[in-house]
Amino acid sequence: TAPGVAGLKPYEPGKPIETLEREYGVRNAIKLASNENPLGPSPLALEAVIKASAKLALYPDGAGFALKAALGRHLGVQPEQVVLGNGSNEILELVTRTFVTPADEVVFSEHAFAVYPIVTQAVGATARVAPARDYGHDLDAMAGLVNENTRLVFVANPNNPTGTYLAREALEAFITSMPSHVLVVLDEAYFEFVDAPDYPDGIAWLERFDNLLVTRTFSKIYGLAGLRVGYGVGHPKLISLLERVRQPFNVNSAAMAAAEAALADHEHLRRSRALNASGMAQLVAGIEALGLHALPSVGNFLAVHVGRDAAPVYEALLRQGVIVRPVAGYGMPEFLRVTIGRPEENARFLQALEAALNN
Ligand code: PMP
Repeated sequence: TAPGVAGLKPYEPGKPIETLEREYGVRNAIKLASNENPLGPSPLALEAVIKASAKLALYPDGAGFALKAALGRHLGVQPEQVVLGNGSNEILELVTRTFVTPADEVVFSEHAFAVYPIVTQAVGATARVAPARDYGHDLDAMAGLVNENTRLVFVANPNNPTGTYLAREALEAFITSMPSHVLVVLDEAYFEFVDAPDYPDGIAWLERFDNLLVTRTFSKIYGLAGLRVGYGVGHPKLISLLERVRQPFNVNSAAMAAAEAALADHEHLRRSRALNASGMAQLVAGIEALGLHALPSVGNFLAVHVGRDAAPVYEALLRQGVIVRPVAGYGMPEFLRVTIGRPEENARFLQALEAALNN
């Protein structure tokens, strides 16, 4: 194997509903495990998929012309600043394959998104993991790990699975302090959910930093996780290097059509944000009523401290048909991550959690 590969642990996704039904024999299971949008995609996106199905015999537009143009307008950037990916995970992998050699080091935080260590190790590079502060990124600790061998720094804002975020001033100072040989990958998968006034828009910084790549996705608020489409935005020179390395037809035609249509549905976005905000309040209140607490989250999920080994609680929830996400692999063995669902799903989770804790 290539260096690093033998030591890799595979990414553990949330259990699909079908798997739970097969393995546990439960009916009517609900999944609050992968930070998906409980409203699903915009109806405009579904229409676009049906329309795109007329052209399935043809290769997709490998240049992604229409979606890049739409994203350019949406984000206020040039299409040459956008690279499309099969989910934003593909962008995270692509950036590592493009820039990182086995002699290099990659910096990220403890409790950060699980794909960072995987893509780092897969190219044989060395991961430098900074200790967290209150479960969030400690930017001073991260900056302290940067040296002449550092090639990449991953920053998740907000972070998954903790839901923590970095404020504008602190993150701006951090990026400013990075030497030019270090590329900062700012992962904004949950950008559209955040309404904290001091939460920064990374794309607004691209005019000032050419060593910054911002990644976002259609999997979360746009409800298109199954189609796999995400993107990276950065300096055209940086993007052109990524464009050389990526697979020729990495994003399929249905996904691109759906994504473009989804961008136009502002009302769906508004409803999704509103449902998330009310569901967040419902879950936080319910969790506190059980005598537990969750990390303050600005995303569409909560890391709940169950106050004991979370594995049996997770299993007890599964047996009741409620799929959440254990995060022991993120160094958080007493936490479960739950995605904000529809009101009735949130209520069912709270009920199942209470029953699981009383067992
Ligand atoms: N970054 C973060 C922080 C995430 O939580 C996720 C989804 N779990 C992703 C990136 C990747 O999502 P996708 O590949 O579906 O765009």
